[in-house]
Amino acid sequence: MDQLFLKSVPILELIEKAGFEAYFVGGSVRDYILGSPINDVDIATSATPQEIKRIFPKTADIGIDHGTVLVIADSGTYEITTFRTESDYSDFRRPDSVQFVRSLTEDLQRRDFTMNAMAMDKSGNIIDPFNGRHDLAEKRIITVGNPHERFHEDALRMMRALRFVSQLDFELDQESFDSLKENAQIISEIAVERILVEFEKLLTGINKKRAFSLLLESGLYQYLPQFSSKKDHLGKLLNLPLHQLKATEIWSIIMVHTSDQDMEEALRAWKLPLKTIRNVQRIIQLVKKEPSFENSTIDVFQAGQGITVQAAKVKAALTGGNVTDAEENAHHRYNELIIKDMSDLAVKGTDLLIWHQEKPGPWVKEYLEIILKAVLNKELRNDKEEIKRWLEKCNLS
Ligand code: ATP
Ligand code: MG
Repeated sequence: MDQLFLKSVPILELIEKAGFEAYFVGGSVRDYILGSPINDVDIATSATPQEIKRIFPKTADIGIDHGTVLVIADSGTYEITTFRTESDYSDFRRPDSVQFVRSLTEDLQRRDFTMNAMAMDKSGNIIDPFNGRHDLAEKRIITVGNPHERFHEDALRMMRALRFVSQLDFELDQESFDSLKENAQIISEIAVERILVEFEKLLTGINKKRAFSLLLESGLYQYLPQFSSKKDHLGKLLNLPLHQLKATEIWSIIMVHTSDQDMEEALRAWKLPLKTIRNVQRIIQLVKKEPSFENSTIDVFQAGQGITVQAAKVKAALTGGNVTDAEENAHHRYNELIIKDMSDLAVKGTDLLIWHQEKPGPWVKEYLEIILKAVLNKELRNDKEEIKRWLEKCNLS
């Protein structure tokens, strides 16, 4: 068993000693059977949240309405969720209410895909009532039960199906895909925040191309924020080396033909963090720059390493260039910069004030920029005395 499971076994044992059942469930069991690294383990139990809180002295109610309690133990923290079914899906979203049950099988039945509907006990025995192991071996994503009903209960599952296509490089079962295609429009009932979580996972997966191709083929893209008019842009992604591109770079590519204002609106509609929005804007600004930003030391200096490298990759991808070469070149350009930060400049604003005996004002910043450019372009050594002499010679003193 994986270290993470082993570390959690005593937690399962404590729950069992109190007279309840407890299992590992969901993604960690799937990833374990796949032989993939496990990030975190989810534990499901027949004990109610109140019963769990009686067993463990330190807990936090992180999702108690849905039956989840965070147990804080010396060995770490554990999310423990009571077996539940979900009832009354009235609007294609999460259920109106959850009902705690004592049966593991009922809990597994409410899960989205067979590969995610397995449990493992403390000794490593797999409980697999829906043949998840078989589908894993066949690399197949298939809903637990009727796909039409399952997507209607929670439309987010359609988005999850595509993110697993990308993440695991699996195929979506034909019947599940047909149903997704038929029901695509109900994804619009789902909160953007939940869609974004899955879409970002799609963007970091190993087979993004396949997932994008299904997103287009199924028509699901039309109901995602701001994507209904972007079929052409999304279609172009299929010809790009997506496996070499990270999420922010792909957002930039999707946005590259959009005007500045529309871009901000589109990214905000996706509820992306402001930091990501700003990064996409900075990347695109560089990509669009003429003449090419890569040869401008000042552009590279101002953008910093991260944005420079991402912009170079995006540009290469868009122009049919070699993304790996572009990435390497951009790192090289950045590393070659004589100074990396304004604080590395041998002259400060205070030096200029002393040399010039003038009042502070915008001129200080202007002068520093002129000096910076000259230093970056290797026209001037980053040496205080030399800079002073250079200023005198240029009549800037
Ligand atoms: P990851 O490794 O990316 O975390 P995961 O399968 O663990 O993948 P989570 O979103 O963490 O995905 O969900 C944990 C488990 O909860 C899933 O494996 C699945 O059993 C169940 N689940 C999550 N979301 C849904 C949903 N919308 N409908 C039904 N079951 C779900
Ligand atoms: Mg998970």
